[in-house]
Parts: sequence; C-alpha cells; structure tokens
Amino acid sequence: RRKFFVGGNWKCNGTSDEVNKIVSTLNAGQIPAADIVEVVVSPPFVFIPCVKIGLKPEFQVAAQNCWVKKGGAFTGEISAEMLANLSIPWVIIGHSERRALLNETNEFVGEKVAYALSQGLKVIACVGETLEEREAGTTMQVVAAQTKAIADKISSWDNVVLAYEPVWAIGTGKVATPAQAQEVHAELRKWLETNTKPEVAASTRIIYGGSVNGSNCKELGGQQDVDGFLVGGASLKPEFIDINQGC
Ligand code: 13P
Repeated sequence: RRKFFVGGNWKCNGTSDEVNKIVSTLNAGQIPAADIVEVVVSPPFVFIPCVKIGLKPEFQVAAQNCWVKKGGAFTGEISAEMLANLSIPWVIIGHSERRALLNETNEFVGEKVAYALSQGLKVIACVGETLEEREAGTTMQVVAAQTKAIADKISSWDNVVLAYEPVWAIGTGKVATPAQAQEVHAELRKWLETNTKPEVAASTRIIYGGSVNGSNCKELGGQQDVDGFLVGGASLKPEFIDINQGC
C-alpha cells in the first residue's frame, strides 16, 4: 500500500506566538511511525525556518508556493532554488486559492511543478473543481485538464503527491462524502494509468483536501484510493494530531 500522507496547509495565518504554540502542540503529540505516515506542515514563508528548527524530526515542512522559474528580478517571489538551499523538502503548487485569486492557469501550474521538481523539491500538486463545474457534470474534465497540464511538463511522478481539493469543500465545512472523494480519486488514478504509466498510477499518492477534520478523516482515509489528506483549518489546531493518529 502507498504510504499515507498528511499535509497541513496553514495558509496565510498565524503570529509568531501562535506558530510557537502550534509547534509545541505538534511536538507534544504522538504520530504514527514514519513508515506508516508522512506528515508535512506548510507554514507561511516567513515562519518556515523557525518551524523547521522547532519541530521534531517526525514532521517535514513545505512551502505554500514558489516562483515558476529561476529566481532573479521578480519582486516578492521566492524561488525553488531558495527552498532547496534551505533544505525545505516540499512545496504546494496550484492551490485553488492561487488559481482563483491570482489567476494561476493550468499551464503556469504545470510549468511551476516541473521547475520545482528540477530543483530537487517534492511537490504537492493541487487540482479540484468548483461547485458550478461539479453541478454542470464536468468534474472529471476539469481535474483531468489540470492534471494533464502537469503531466505534459514533467517526466517523473516520483516526487509528486496529487491533492484533490474540490473548491466547494475548502473552508466551507462541506466535506466531500467518502464516496464522492473515492470516485474522483479512482478516476484520477485511471487517468494516470492511461496517460502516464501503470506504475505511476499504482504508486502516486492521491490525497484529499477540503474540510477534513478529526471526525471525518477516518472514513475518508479508509477509501481505497484516498492516500492521505491536505488539511487546512484543522491543521492549525491540536486536532491535526488526531487526524494523523486516526489514519
Ligand atoms: P480546509 O481544510 O480549511 O477546508 O482547507 C483545505 C485546503 O485548502 C488545504 O489546502
């Protein structure tokens, strides 16, 4: 079985006091052994160094974004080289908030994933449909197009975790049902099988994000093609430990 993966996306939240508190809470918690689950927390850029130093080694860290190409005259951006230089192993790319609010296109996201991988980073690549797209019955076309734009630009999926995050479930408390999540995850795996290689489909972790919490994680995580979670709101609370213990 694919190793379970739990990511905690802190988004644009936290003061240094709050971040220290979360770090202490995480350090005090028990999480399953590293061969059972991989746990990655993703603080805002400015907090990454202190979180990385403060957390016990069972936890890894991820950035929430990086620049699409080599660094340079791109005011306000953080390059993949910088993340690699600071031994920040993971980066989240293509989150729906960036797609929607910052107009990141499928192609741009694909390019970014490829560049981050080329710099030795591991990538949590996000896909997901809006409520209108789901209601129009186009969920699979949407997530397939988002996944294709990534697949077109990369030659290996070894360092990629694919996060299915339906936009309508993010921050809304309206979690996808286990059956809804399983359906899309299975379709995504089938897409990988048809369009990449069967080995890629078998080994790539497809994780679910959108209103995951300590009470719904068990049933979601029990679905055959759900290999973990990308947790937002609940990753800022002690509940994040429960989500890891429950998987
Ligand atoms: P919530 O868990 O707050 O719904 O956020 C999910 C998410 O966007 C993780 O990247």
